[in-house]
Amino acid sequence: MKKIKSDPTLLNEVRKYGHFDTNACYQCGSCTVVCDLAKNSVSFPRRMFQSVLFGLKDLVRGGLEPWICYYCGDCSTACPRETEPGEAMMTLRRYLIAQYDWTGLSAKLYKSKAWQIAAYVVSGAFMALLIALFHGPLITERVELNTFAPAHTVHMFDVTVAALVLLILFFNAFRMYWFTMHPGAGIGIPDVIRGFIKDGVGYTIHNGEKVRIPLLVFLTEAKTLVVNFATQKLFLSCKKNTGRWIKHFLLVIGYLIMFSLVVVFLEWFQTDNIYPVYHPQRWVGYIAAAALIYLTGEIIVGRIKKREQIHRFSDLTDWMFPILLFLMSVTGIIVHIFRYLGLPLATYYSYTIHLIIAFLWLVVVVPFSKWTHLLYRSLAIYYQSVKDKALEQQQQMPEEAVLENV
Ligand code: SF4
Ligand code: SF4
Repeated sequence: MKKIKSDPTLLNEVRKYGHFDTNACYQCGSCTVVCDLAKNSVSFPRRMFQSVLFGLKDLVRGGLEPWICYYCGDCSTACPRETEPGEAMMTLRRYLIAQYDWTGLSAKLYKSKAWQIAAYVVSGAFMALLIALFHGPLITERVELNTFAPAHTVHMFDVTVAALVLLILFFNAFRMYWFTMHPGAGIGIPDVIRGFIKDGVGYTIHNGEKVRIPLLVFLTEAKTLVVNFATQKLFLSCKKNTGRWIKHFLLVIGYLIMFSLVVVFLEWFQTDNIYPVYHPQRWVGYIAAAALIYLTGEIIVGRIKKREQIHRFSDLTDWMFPILLFLMSVTGIIVHIFRYLGLPLATYYSYTIHLIIAFLWLVVVVPFSKWTHLLYRSLAIYYQSVKDKALEQQQQMPEEAVLENV
């Protein structure tokens, strides 16, 4: 059996990512008992508290539990010592995002407000400079948005930045897979090759022993990934989360529509033609913008009022997520209004602000911050179902076959 290493610096390191109060916890387990999402194979939040306290870095870094928590807050309400286990799971999610991120930028942004502010200021200034240098002629007799910022050029820029962001996320998702499916292994190329030869596609631990996961299980469970990415239906396992799930689902739909309009169909969406209100170019945009403005506005108000458990603690990254989405939608509507009112300069300037906000969202929030929850949660649920399935198959095997397989 492999020796378990302990890292005494882990607790202090995790605390740099938010609230993680272990001092008062007396391990009563009430938090785990009330959690609707904890089960035998994924027991949390108490076990995560223990793992961090004991410095079990490989176990924490390879843990899927923080992603399976949907932050209903029940555990925090139930905790007799007010240690806020729900917020501790949120802190662990930030820590894990930083562990997966090969660029190291997520760690800098989460640990330092100065880094975050600098990231927004530098990225915003960069985008403003690009627009100042490369915008087209300013026609002031009438609104010609496509002369000021040709849709084709903006589209090419969007697609290039989105592709770079996807590349970063792809490598981060691979690191997540490696940490969770080969816990304790290094991440260099020789480690990866050695890991594949020695352990196959992946393994899970049961009663202290490795259980190999056949490739077929990864393939047959892939439906879990698709379904959870599209619906995040695990949210509904928390009884009180139905309302939140509906809002979350509408927010994701609104976001995906807006993302498709600006990254895939921009040349159809950004036009100088004035279409009638029943034309899809108008109402599709209105529906997506209305959903985003209402739902992000509600999140911002919730964070200001702090009435719900999930809003009591807010990191700067928690604020920037709804604020940037809200501002992006509002400035998009403002551009639209100015264009319809026939105000050329107001249209161009508001479009410039809109592009800067969209750029901040795409280069800071999507790859390095809270947006990644959507990706990592879906992957975590998939990996967990792969592990459960492999274990179930192994338990159904006759003993001789298990020994051959190990
Ligand atoms: S309910 Fe509170 S005191 Fe009890 S184990 Fe959980 S965090 Fe610790
Ligand atoms: S916040 Fe809710 S889902 Fe998360 S650990 Fe606590 S009870 Fe479970």
